[in-house]
Amino acid sequence: ESESTTTIIVVGASGDLAKKKIFPALFALFYEECLPKHFTIFGFARSKMTDADLRCIIGRTLTCRIDKRQNCSEKMEQFLGRCFYHAGQYNSEDDFAELHEKLKKHEVGRISNRLFYLSTPPDIFIDAVKNASNSASSANGWTRVIVEKPFGRDSDSSAALTKGLKQYLKEEQIFRIDHYLGKELVENLSVLRFSNLIFEPLWSRQYIRNVQLIFSEDFGTEGRGGYFDNYGIIRDIMQNHLLQILALFAMEAPVSLDAEHIRNEKVKVLRSMKLLKLEDVVIGQYKRHTRGGMTYPGYTDDKTVPKNSLTPTFAAACLFIDNARWDGVPFLMKAGKALCNRRAEIRVQFRHVPGNLYKGSLGTDLDLATNELVIRVQPDEAIYLKINNKIPGLGMRLDRSTLNLHYAARYSKEIPDAYERLLLDAIEGERRLFIRSDELDAAWRLFTPLLKELEEKKIAPELYPYGGRGPVGAHYLAAKYNVRWGDLSSEY
Ligand code: NAP
Repeated sequence: ESESTTTIIVVGASGDLAKKKIFPALFALFYEECLPKHFTIFGFARSKMTDADLRCIIGRTLTCRIDKRQNCSEKMEQFLGRCFYHAGQYNSEDDFAELHEKLKKHEVGRISNRLFYLSTPPDIFIDAVKNASNSASSANGWTRVIVEKPFGRDSDSSAALTKGLKQYLKEEQIFRIDHYLGKELVENLSVLRFSNLIFEPLWSRQYIRNVQLIFSEDFGTEGRGGYFDNYGIIRDIMQNHLLQILALFAMEAPVSLDAEHIRNEKVKVLRSMKLLKLEDVVIGQYKRHTRGGMTYPGYTDDKTVPKNSLTPTFAAACLFIDNARWDGVPFLMKAGKALCNRRAEIRVQFRHVPGNLYKGSLGTDLDLATNELVIRVQPDEAIYLKINNKIPGLGMRLDRSTLNLHYAARYSKEIPDAYERLLLDAIEGERRLFIRSDELDAAWRLFTPLLKELEEKKIAPELYPYGGRGPVGAHYLAAKYNVRWGDLSSEY
Protein backbone atom coordinates (compact mmCIF):
# COMPACT_ATOMS: atom_id res chain seq x y z
CA GLU A 1 0.00 0.00 0.00
CA SER A 2 1.55 3.30 -1.00
CA GLU A 3 1.80 6.01 1.62
CA SER A 4 -0.09 9.26 1.44
CA THR A 5 1.01 12.79 2.08
CA THR A 6 -1.18 15.64 3.30
CA THR A 7 -0.72 19.28 2.39
CA ILE A 8 -2.54 22.07 4.15
CA ILE A 9 -2.72 25.17 1.98
CA VAL A 10 -3.61 28.30 3.92
CA VAL A 11 -5.09 30.71 1.37
CA GLY A 12 -4.78 34.24 2.77
CA ALA A 13 -1.71 33.21 4.79
CA SER A 14 -0.60 36.83 5.23
CA GLY A 15 -3.74 37.63 7.23
CA ASP A 16 -4.75 37.98 10.82
CA LEU A 17 -6.58 34.69 11.33
CA ALA A 18 -3.76 32.68 9.76
CA LYS A 19 -1.24 34.23 12.13
CA LYS A 20 -3.41 34.22 15.24
CA LYS A 21 -5.14 30.86 14.95
CA ILE A 22 -4.39 28.62 11.99
CA PHE A 23 -0.59 28.29 12.14
CA PRO A 24 -0.50 28.06 15.96
CA ALA A 25 -3.19 25.35 15.84
CA LEU A 26 -1.23 23.42 13.22
CA PHE A 27 1.88 23.68 15.37
CA ALA A 28 0.01 22.39 18.43
CA LEU A 29 -1.21 19.42 16.38
CA PHE A 30 2.33 18.79 15.18
CA TYR A 31 3.63 19.03 18.76
CA GLU A 32 1.07 16.48 19.92
CA GLU A 33 1.99 14.25 16.98
CA CYS A 34 -1.53 14.41 15.59
CA LEU A 35 -0.59 15.44 12.06
CA PRO A 36 -0.05 12.73 9.42
CA LYS A 37 3.52 11.41 9.13
CA HIS A 38 4.05 13.11 5.79
CA PHE A 39 2.67 16.61 5.82
CA THR A 40 3.54 19.97 4.31
CA ILE A 41 2.04 23.38 4.93
CA PHE A 42 1.81 25.98 2.20
CA GLY A 43 0.86 29.61 2.65
CA PHE A 44 -0.72 31.28 -0.37
CA ALA A 45 -1.56 35.00 -0.68
CA ARG A 46 -0.80 37.98 -2.90
CA SER A 47 1.83 39.53 -0.59
CA LYS A 48 5.34 39.02 -1.86
CA MET A 49 7.15 36.85 0.66
CA THR A 50 9.74 34.10 0.71
CA ASP A 51 9.48 30.87 2.69
CA ALA A 52 11.84 32.45 5.21
CA ASP A 53 9.61 35.54 5.55
CA LEU A 54 6.58 33.37 6.25
CA ARG A 55 8.49 31.29 8.81
CA CYS A 56 9.65 34.45 10.52
CA ILE A 57 6.10 35.86 10.73
CA ILE A 58 4.41 32.71 11.96
CA GLY A 59 7.33 31.76 14.21
CA ARG A 60 6.42 34.73 16.39
CA THR A 61 2.94 33.48 17.23
CA LEU A 62 3.69 29.81 17.86
CA THR A 63 3.52 28.93 21.53
CA CYS A 64 4.31 25.91 23.66
CA ARG A 65 0.79 25.80 25.00
CA ILE A 66 0.94 22.08 25.66
CA ASP A 67 3.83 22.00 28.06
CA LYS A 68 4.89 25.44 29.15
CA ARG A 69 7.90 24.18 31.11
CA GLN A 70 9.41 22.57 28.09
CA ASN A 71 11.50 24.32 25.57
CA CYS A 72 9.93 23.57 22.25
CA SER A 73 12.34 25.46 20.00
CA GLU A 74 13.53 22.24 18.41
CA LYS A 75 9.98 21.18 17.55
CA MET A 76 9.30 24.69 16.30
CA GLU A 77 12.26 24.53 13.93
CA GLN A 78 11.08 21.16 12.64
CA PHE A 79 7.61 22.54 12.11
CA LEU A 80 8.73 25.74 10.40
CA GLY A 81 10.95 23.65 8.12
CA ARG A 82 7.80 22.09 6.73
CA CYS A 83 6.09 25.45 6.04
CA PHE A 84 6.41 27.06 2.59
CA TYR A 85 4.93 30.02 0.81
CA HIS A 86 3.70 30.68 -2.69
CA ALA A 87 2.72 34.20 -3.76
CA GLY A 88 -0.11 34.45 -6.25
CA GLN A 89 -3.36 36.11 -7.25
CA TYR A 90 -6.56 34.43 -6.08
CA ASN A 91 -8.11 34.79 -9.53
CA SER A 92 -5.16 33.45 -11.50
CA GLU A 93 -5.37 29.90 -12.80
CA ASP A 94 -1.67 30.08 -13.69
CA ASP A 95 -0.64 30.96 -10.15
CA PHE A 96 -2.56 27.98 -8.79
CA ALA A 97 -1.04 25.78 -11.50
CA GLU A 98 2.40 26.88 -10.31
CA LEU A 99 1.39 26.07 -6.75
CA HIS A 100 0.29 22.64 -8.00
CA GLU A 101 3.73 22.01 -9.48
CA LYS A 102 5.41 22.94 -6.20
CA LEU A 103 3.05 20.71 -4.25
CA LYS A 104 3.80 17.79 -6.55
CA LYS A 105 7.50 18.15 -5.83
CA HIS A 106 6.84 17.84 -2.11
CA GLU A 107 4.51 14.91 -2.58
CA VAL A 108 7.26 12.83 -4.26
CA GLY A 109 4.86 10.47 -5.95
CA ARG A 110 2.86 9.55 -2.86
CA ILE A 111 -0.95 9.65 -2.80
CA SER A 112 -1.69 13.31 -2.29
CA ASN A 113 -4.33 14.76 0.02
CA ARG A 114 -4.91 18.49 -0.05
CA LEU A 115 -6.74 20.65 2.43
CA PHE A 116 -7.30 24.25 1.35
CA TYR A 117 -8.13 26.64 4.19
CA LEU A 118 -9.81 29.78 2.82
CA SER A 119 -8.80 32.47 5.27
CA THR A 120 -9.60 35.55 3.21
CA PRO A 121 -12.45 38.01 2.89
CA PRO A 122 -15.49 36.25 1.36
CA ASP A 123 -15.48 38.04 -2.00
CA ILE A 124 -12.59 35.89 -3.19
CA PHE A 125 -13.93 32.50 -1.99
CA ILE A 126 -15.35 31.49 -5.38
CA ASP A 127 -12.26 32.56 -7.39
CA ALA A 128 -9.97 30.69 -5.05
CA VAL A 129 -12.13 27.56 -5.00
CA LYS A 130 -12.45 27.58 -8.77
CA ASN A 131 -8.71 27.78 -9.29
CA ALA A 132 -7.83 25.41 -6.49
CA SER A 133 -10.27 22.88 -7.87
CA ASN A 134 -9.38 23.27 -11.57
CA SER A 135 -5.63 23.72 -11.28
CA ALA A 136 -4.40 22.54 -7.89
CA SER A 137 -6.59 19.69 -6.70
CA SER A 138 -5.24 16.26 -5.92
CA ALA A 139 -5.17 13.76 -8.76
CA ASN A 140 -5.24 10.59 -6.67
CA GLY A 141 -6.23 11.46 -3.08
CA TRP A 142 -8.78 13.79 -1.54
CA THR A 143 -9.20 17.57 -1.90
CA ARG A 144 -11.10 19.39 0.84
CA VAL A 145 -11.81 23.06 1.45
CA ILE A 146 -12.37 24.76 4.79
CA VAL A 147 -14.46 27.93 4.46
CA GLU A 148 -14.56 30.62 7.14
CA LYS A 149 -17.58 32.76 7.97
CA PRO A 150 -19.30 34.87 6.79
CA PHE A 151 -21.36 32.48 4.69
CA GLY A 152 -23.33 35.27 3.02
CA ARG A 153 -25.31 37.98 4.77
CA ASP A 154 -28.83 36.66 4.23
CA SER A 155 -30.66 33.69 2.68
CA ASP A 156 -30.11 34.79 -0.93
CA SER A 157 -26.42 35.65 -0.72
CA SER A 158 -25.74 32.50 1.28
CA ALA A 159 -27.55 30.37 -1.30
CA ALA A 160 -25.53 32.08 -4.05
CA LEU A 161 -22.29 31.28 -2.22
CA THR A 162 -23.31 27.65 -1.75
CA LYS A 163 -24.25 27.40 -5.41
CA GLY A 164 -20.91 28.94 -6.42
CA LEU A 165 -18.93 26.54 -4.22
CA LYS A 166 -20.89 23.56 -5.48
CA GLN A 167 -19.96 24.38 -9.07
CA TYR A 168 -16.46 23.23 -8.19
CA LEU A 169 -16.84 21.04 -5.11
CA LYS A 170 -19.10 18.31 -3.82
CA GLU A 171 -20.83 18.99 -0.51
CA GLU A 172 -18.62 16.41 1.21
CA GLN A 173 -15.52 18.39 0.20
CA ILE A 174 -16.78 21.59 1.86
CA PHE A 175 -15.99 22.12 5.54
CA ARG A 176 -17.84 25.23 6.78
CA ILE A 177 -16.20 26.19 10.01
CA ASP A 178 -18.03 27.57 13.04
CA HIS A 179 -15.28 27.62 15.60
CA TYR A 180 -17.77 27.55 18.49
CA LEU A 181 -18.48 23.94 17.56
CA GLY A 182 -14.84 23.16 18.24
CA LYS A 183 -14.98 24.49 21.79
CA GLU A 184 -14.55 21.89 24.50
CA LEU A 185 -17.73 22.68 26.41
CA VAL A 186 -19.88 22.85 23.31
CA GLU A 187 -18.68 19.35 22.38
CA ASN A 188 -19.35 18.26 25.92
CA LEU A 189 -22.97 19.38 25.69
CA SER A 190 -24.00 16.16 23.96
CA VAL A 191 -21.93 14.07 26.36
CA LEU A 192 -23.63 15.72 29.29
CA ARG A 193 -27.08 15.11 27.83
CA PHE A 194 -26.73 11.66 26.37
CA SER A 195 -24.31 9.89 28.70
CA ASN A 196 -25.88 10.86 32.03
CA LEU A 197 -29.22 9.64 33.22
CA ILE A 198 -30.02 12.71 35.23
CA PHE A 199 -30.16 15.45 32.58
CA GLU A 200 -31.90 14.14 29.48
CA PRO A 201 -35.19 13.24 31.23
CA LEU A 202 -35.43 16.88 32.39
CA TRP A 203 -34.56 18.28 28.95
CA SER A 204 -38.01 19.48 27.92
CA ARG A 205 -40.78 22.02 28.43
CA GLN A 206 -41.98 19.99 31.37
CA TYR A 207 -39.00 20.90 33.54
CA ILE A 208 -37.17 23.71 31.78
CA ARG A 209 -38.55 27.21 32.12
CA ASN A 210 -36.18 28.94 29.76
CA VAL A 211 -32.76 28.62 28.16
CA GLN A 212 -30.31 31.51 27.79
CA LEU A 213 -27.41 31.73 25.38
CA ILE A 214 -25.13 34.58 26.29
CA PHE A 215 -22.09 36.02 24.57
CA SER A 216 -20.28 39.13 25.72
CA GLU A 217 -17.02 40.86 24.95
CA ASP A 218 -15.44 43.56 27.08
CA PHE A 219 -13.96 45.43 24.13
CA GLY A 220 -15.30 47.15 21.04
CA THR A 221 -14.20 47.10 17.40
CA GLU A 222 -10.98 48.98 18.29
CA GLY A 223 -10.25 50.37 14.82
CA ARG A 224 -11.26 47.16 13.00
CA GLY A 225 -14.92 48.00 12.45
CA GLY A 226 -14.87 47.95 8.66
CA TYR A 227 -15.81 44.29 8.34
CA PHE A 228 -18.10 44.34 11.35
CA ASP A 229 -20.15 47.33 10.21
CA ASN A 230 -21.33 45.44 7.15
CA TYR A 231 -22.56 42.52 9.27
CA GLY A 232 -23.47 43.55 12.82
CA ILE A 233 -23.69 41.40 15.92
CA ILE A 234 -26.75 39.38 14.82
CA ARG A 235 -24.94 37.99 11.77
CA ASP A 236 -21.53 37.90 13.46
CA ILE A 237 -22.51 35.95 16.58
CA MET A 238 -26.20 35.00 16.83
CA GLN A 239 -27.14 33.52 13.48
CA ASN A 240 -24.09 31.25 13.58
CA HIS A 241 -22.40 30.61 16.94
CA LEU A 242 -25.34 30.96 19.33
CA LEU A 243 -27.81 29.28 17.00
CA GLN A 244 -25.44 26.34 16.53
CA ILE A 245 -25.22 25.91 20.30
CA LEU A 246 -29.00 26.14 20.52
CA ALA A 247 -29.41 23.43 17.87
CA LEU A 248 -27.07 21.08 19.73
CA PHE A 249 -28.78 21.87 22.99
CA ALA A 250 -32.30 21.29 21.73
CA MET A 251 -31.96 18.55 19.11
CA GLU A 252 -33.42 15.08 19.60
CA ALA A 253 -31.03 12.21 20.26
CA PRO A 254 -29.28 11.31 16.99
CA VAL A 255 -29.35 7.74 15.68
CA SER A 256 -25.58 7.56 16.31
CA LEU A 257 -22.55 9.83 16.58
CA ASP A 258 -22.17 9.71 12.81
CA ALA A 259 -21.82 13.22 11.35
CA GLU A 260 -24.87 12.89 9.12
CA HIS A 261 -27.02 11.62 11.96
CA ILE A 262 -26.07 14.55 14.17
CA ARG A 263 -26.48 17.10 11.42
CA ASN A 264 -29.87 15.62 10.49
CA GLU A 265 -31.11 16.29 14.02
CA LYS A 266 -29.69 19.81 14.06
CA VAL A 267 -31.43 20.69 10.80
CA LYS A 268 -34.67 19.23 12.08
CA VAL A 269 -34.72 21.39 15.18
CA LEU A 270 -33.73 24.51 13.22
CA ARG A 271 -36.58 23.87 10.81
CA SER A 272 -39.00 23.56 13.73
CA MET A 273 -38.21 27.07 14.90
CA LYS A 274 -40.44 30.09 14.41
CA LEU A 275 -39.09 32.94 12.31
CA LEU A 276 -37.73 35.69 14.49
CA LYS A 277 -40.06 38.67 14.92
CA LEU A 278 -39.09 42.29 15.34
CA GLU A 279 -41.00 42.58 18.62
CA ASP A 280 -38.87 39.78 20.05
CA VAL A 281 -35.59 41.53 19.35
CA VAL A 282 -33.76 44.41 21.01
CA ILE A 283 -30.73 45.99 19.39
CA GLY A 284 -28.11 48.26 20.90
CA GLN A 285 -24.94 50.12 20.05
CA TYR A 286 -22.24 51.17 22.51
CA LYS A 287 -21.52 54.82 23.07
CA ARG A 288 -18.59 56.73 24.47
CA HIS A 289 -18.26 56.50 28.22
CA THR A 290 -15.99 58.09 30.80
CA ARG A 291 -15.23 56.22 33.98
CA GLY A 292 -12.50 56.63 36.55
CA GLY A 293 -10.84 59.34 34.49
CA MET A 294 -10.69 57.09 31.39
CA THR A 295 -12.72 57.72 28.26
CA TYR A 296 -13.78 54.68 26.26
CA PRO A 297 -14.73 55.31 22.60
CA GLY A 298 -18.20 54.77 21.22
CA TYR A 299 -18.78 52.50 18.22
CA THR A 300 -19.10 55.40 15.78
CA ASP A 301 -15.88 56.94 17.15
CA ASP A 302 -14.09 54.07 15.38
CA LYS A 303 -12.59 55.66 12.26
CA THR A 304 -13.43 52.57 10.17
CA VAL A 305 -17.16 52.96 11.01
CA PRO A 306 -19.51 55.48 9.30
CA LYS A 307 -20.58 58.24 11.70
CA ASN A 308 -24.30 57.53 11.15
CA SER A 309 -24.02 53.75 11.40
CA LEU A 310 -27.09 51.95 12.78
CA THR A 311 -25.27 48.62 12.96
CA PRO A 312 -26.07 46.80 16.20
CA THR A 313 -23.14 45.91 18.45
CA PHE A 314 -25.60 44.31 20.88
CA ALA A 315 -28.71 42.25 20.36
CA ALA A 316 -31.09 40.26 22.52
CA ALA A 317 -33.67 37.97 21.00
CA CYS A 318 -36.29 35.47 22.06
CA LEU A 319 -36.74 32.37 19.92
CA PHE A 320 -39.22 29.51 20.05
CA ILE A 321 -39.12 25.93 18.88
CA ASP A 322 -42.44 24.64 17.65
CA ASN A 323 -42.18 20.99 18.58
CA ALA A 324 -43.51 18.68 21.27
CA ARG A 325 -40.39 18.93 23.42
CA TRP A 326 -39.99 22.70 23.49
CA ASP A 327 -43.39 24.24 22.76
CA GLY A 328 -43.64 27.57 24.62
CA VAL A 329 -40.14 27.54 26.16
CA PRO A 330 -38.36 30.83 25.49
CA PHE A 331 -34.80 30.48 24.19
CA LEU A 332 -33.19 33.83 24.89
CA MET A 333 -30.06 34.95 23.17
CA LYS A 334 -27.92 37.91 24.06
CA ALA A 335 -24.72 38.99 22.34
CA GLY A 336 -22.79 42.20 22.69
CA LYS A 337 -19.51 44.03 22.39
CA ALA A 338 -18.05 46.55 24.83
CA LEU A 339 -19.87 45.14 27.85
CA CYS A 340 -18.64 44.72 31.42
CA ASN A 341 -17.29 41.22 30.97
CA ARG A 342 -16.13 38.67 28.45
CA ARG A 343 -17.90 35.33 28.44
CA ALA A 344 -19.94 32.78 26.55
CA GLU A 345 -22.35 30.62 28.45
CA ILE A 346 -25.52 28.57 28.35
CA ARG A 347 -27.98 28.94 31.22
CA VAL A 348 -30.84 26.58 31.81
CA GLN A 349 -33.43 27.74 34.30
CA PHE A 350 -35.64 24.99 35.64
CA ARG A 351 -39.23 25.30 36.81
CA HIS A 352 -40.36 25.80 40.39
CA VAL A 353 -40.77 22.71 42.54
CA PRO A 354 -44.53 22.06 42.60
CA GLY A 355 -46.02 22.09 46.08
CA ASN A 356 -42.64 22.92 47.57
CA LEU A 357 -42.62 21.89 51.25
CA TYR A 358 -39.88 24.38 52.00
CA LYS A 359 -41.55 27.41 50.51
CA GLY A 360 -41.44 29.25 53.82
CA SER A 361 -37.74 28.60 54.31
CA LEU A 362 -36.61 30.00 51.03
CA GLY A 363 -36.61 33.67 51.84
CA THR A 364 -38.76 36.16 50.03
CA ASP A 365 -37.38 35.80 46.54
CA LEU A 366 -38.96 32.64 45.17
CA ASP A 367 -37.09 33.08 41.94
CA LEU A 368 -33.85 32.38 43.71
CA ALA A 369 -35.07 28.96 44.63
CA THR A 370 -35.25 27.34 41.21
CA ASN A 371 -32.43 25.18 39.91
CA GLU A 372 -30.17 26.57 37.26
CA LEU A 373 -27.58 24.73 35.19
CA VAL A 374 -24.78 26.86 33.79
CA ILE A 375 -22.36 25.75 31.12
CA ARG A 376 -19.61 28.32 30.90
CA VAL A 377 -18.00 27.88 27.49
CA GLN A 378 -15.38 30.58 28.06
CA PRO A 379 -13.34 31.82 29.81
CA ASP A 380 -12.52 29.56 32.75
CA GLU A 381 -14.61 26.60 31.57
CA ALA A 382 -17.09 25.22 34.07
CA ILE A 383 -20.38 23.40 34.45
CA TYR A 384 -22.29 24.17 37.59
CA LEU A 385 -25.69 23.45 38.98
CA LYS A 386 -27.40 25.64 41.50
CA ILE A 387 -29.31 23.75 44.12
CA ASN A 388 -31.11 24.49 47.37
CA ASN A 389 -29.42 23.27 50.48
CA LYS A 390 -30.05 23.39 54.20
CA ILE A 391 -27.82 25.79 56.08
CA PRO A 392 -26.08 23.64 58.68
CA GLY A 393 -27.42 24.20 62.18
CA LEU A 394 -30.42 23.58 64.33
CA GLY A 395 -32.84 25.78 62.44
CA MET A 396 -34.37 25.07 59.04
CA ARG A 397 -33.13 27.67 56.68
CA LEU A 398 -32.25 27.06 53.09
CA ASP A 399 -29.43 28.44 51.10
CA ARG A 400 -28.61 28.40 47.44
CA SER A 401 -25.39 26.55 46.71
CA THR A 402 -23.51 25.25 43.73
CA LEU A 403 -22.31 21.86 42.55
CA ASN A 404 -19.36 22.90 40.51
CA LEU A 405 -17.29 21.17 37.86
CA HIS A 406 -14.52 23.68 37.43
CA TYR A 407 -12.28 22.51 34.63
CA ALA A 408 -9.09 24.16 35.87
CA ALA A 409 -9.47 22.38 39.21
CA ARG A 410 -10.53 19.02 37.79
CA TYR A 411 -8.20 18.72 34.80
CA SER A 412 -4.59 19.79 34.82
CA LYS A 413 -4.25 19.63 31.03
CA GLU A 414 -4.83 22.82 29.13
CA ILE A 415 -7.85 22.82 26.85
CA PRO A 416 -7.01 22.79 23.14
CA ASP A 417 -7.99 25.71 21.00
CA ALA A 418 -11.13 25.14 18.90
CA TYR A 419 -9.11 25.48 15.70
CA GLU A 420 -6.92 22.51 16.66
CA ARG A 421 -9.85 20.15 16.93
CA LEU A 422 -11.47 21.47 13.76
CA LEU A 423 -8.32 21.26 11.66
CA LEU A 424 -7.66 17.75 12.87
CA ASP A 425 -11.24 16.73 12.08
CA ALA A 426 -10.98 18.19 8.58
CA ILE A 427 -7.73 16.29 7.98
CA GLU A 428 -9.36 13.10 9.22
CA GLY A 429 -12.55 13.70 7.22
CA GLU A 430 -14.75 13.95 10.32
CA ARG A 431 -17.64 16.29 9.43
CA ARG A 432 -19.59 16.25 12.69
CA LEU A 433 -18.50 19.75 13.75
CA PHE A 434 -18.89 21.44 10.37
CA ILE A 435 -22.04 23.06 9.01
CA ARG A 436 -23.88 21.30 6.22
CA SER A 437 -25.51 23.48 3.56
CA ASP A 438 -29.08 22.62 4.62
CA GLU A 439 -28.24 23.65 8.20
CA LEU A 440 -26.95 26.93 6.90
CA ASP A 441 -30.13 27.52 4.86
CA ALA A 442 -32.28 26.75 7.89
CA ALA A 443 -30.27 29.16 10.03
CA TRP A 444 -30.55 32.02 7.55
CA ARG A 445 -34.27 31.38 7.06
CA LEU A 446 -34.87 32.25 10.73
CA PHE A 447 -32.95 35.52 10.69
CA THR A 448 -33.30 36.93 7.17
CA PRO A 449 -36.79 38.53 7.42
CA LEU A 450 -35.83 40.20 10.70
CA LEU A 451 -32.53 41.52 9.33
CA LYS A 452 -34.33 42.92 6.27
CA GLU A 453 -36.94 44.61 8.44
CA LEU A 454 -34.33 46.15 10.76
CA GLU A 455 -32.50 47.57 7.75
CA GLU A 456 -35.51 48.68 5.72
CA LYS A 457 -37.14 50.43 8.67
CA LYS A 458 -33.77 51.84 9.75
CA ILE A 459 -34.45 50.84 13.34
CA ALA A 460 -32.15 52.82 15.61
CA PRO A 461 -30.23 50.78 18.20
CA GLU A 462 -30.57 51.70 21.88
CA LEU A 463 -27.32 53.32 22.97
CA TYR A 464 -25.52 51.81 25.96
CA PRO A 465 -22.34 52.96 27.66
CA TYR A 466 -19.07 51.17 26.85
CA GLY A 467 -18.26 48.73 29.63
CA GLY A 468 -21.80 48.51 31.02
CA ARG A 469 -24.46 45.82 31.09
CA GLY A 470 -26.03 46.64 27.75
CA PRO A 471 -29.39 48.25 26.92
CA VAL A 472 -32.22 47.99 29.44
CA GLY A 473 -34.43 46.90 26.54
CA ALA A 474 -32.93 43.42 26.95
CA HIS A 475 -34.28 43.33 30.48
CA TYR A 476 -37.80 44.25 29.30
CA LEU A 477 -37.69 41.70 26.49
CA ALA A 478 -36.88 38.94 28.98
CA ALA A 479 -39.51 40.23 31.42
CA LYS A 480 -42.15 39.95 28.69
CA TYR A 481 -41.62 36.18 28.90
CA ASN A 482 -41.23 36.12 32.69
CA VAL A 483 -37.51 35.61 32.43
CA ARG A 484 -34.69 37.22 34.33
CA TRP A 485 -31.25 37.10 32.74
CA GLY A 486 -29.13 34.80 34.88
CA ASP A 487 -25.86 36.53 34.17
CA LEU A 488 -27.06 39.70 35.88
CA SER A 489 -28.03 37.99 39.14
CA SER A 490 -26.08 38.41 42.33
CA GLU A 491 -23.72 35.46 41.79
CA TYR A 492 -20.99 37.71 40.42
P1 NAP B 1 -7.74 39.50 6.63
O1 NAP B 1 -6.51 39.58 7.46
O2 NAP B 1 -8.50 40.73 6.34
O3 NAP B 1 -7.45 38.84 5.21
C1 NAP B 1 -6.61 37.71 5.00
C2 NAP B 1 -5.78 37.93 3.74
O4 NAP B 1 -6.62 38.03 2.60
C3 NAP B 1 -4.99 39.22 3.75
O5 NAP B 1 -3.76 39.05 4.39
C4 NAP B 1 -4.85 39.52 2.28
O6 NAP B 1 -3.71 38.84 1.77
C5 NAP B 1 -6.06 38.94 1.68
N1 NAP B 1 -7.04 40.01 1.43
C6 NAP B 1 -7.44 40.97 2.26
N2 NAP B 1 -8.34 41.79 1.70
C7 NAP B 1 -8.48 41.36 0.44
C8 NAP B 1 -9.26 41.78 -0.64
N3 NAP B 1 -10.09 42.83 -0.54
N4 NAP B 1 -9.18 41.09 -1.78
C9 NAP B 1 -8.36 40.04 -1.88
N5 NAP B 1 -7.60 39.60 -0.86
C10 NAP B 1 -7.66 40.24 0.28
O7 NAP B 1 -8.76 38.45 7.23
P2 NAP B 1 -8.63 37.56 8.55
O8 NAP B 1 -8.93 38.38 9.72
O9 NAP B 1 -7.34 36.82 8.50
O10 NAP B 1 -9.85 36.56 8.36
C11 NAP B 1 -9.92 35.61 7.33
C12 NAP B 1 -11.32 35.02 7.27
O11 NAP B 1 -11.65 34.43 8.51
C13 NAP B 1 -12.40 36.05 6.99
O12 NAP B 1 -13.40 35.44 6.19
C14 NAP B 1 -12.94 36.36 8.37
O13 NAP B 1 -14.27 36.78 8.32
C15 NAP B 1 -12.81 35.02 9.05
N6 NAP B 1 -12.65 35.09 10.50
C16 NAP B 1 -11.63 35.84 11.07
C17 NAP B 1 -11.45 35.84 12.44
C18 NAP B 1 -10.30 36.63 13.10
O14 NAP B 1 -10.13 36.52 14.29
N7 NAP B 1 -9.52 37.40 12.37
C19 NAP B 1 -12.30 35.11 13.25
C20 NAP B 1 -13.31 34.35 12.66
C21 NAP B 1 -13.46 34.35 11.29
P3 NAP B 1 -2.87 39.38 0.52
O15 NAP B 1 -3.09 40.82 0.37
O16 NAP B 1 -1.47 39.00 0.86
O17 NAP B 1 -3.40 38.57 -0.61
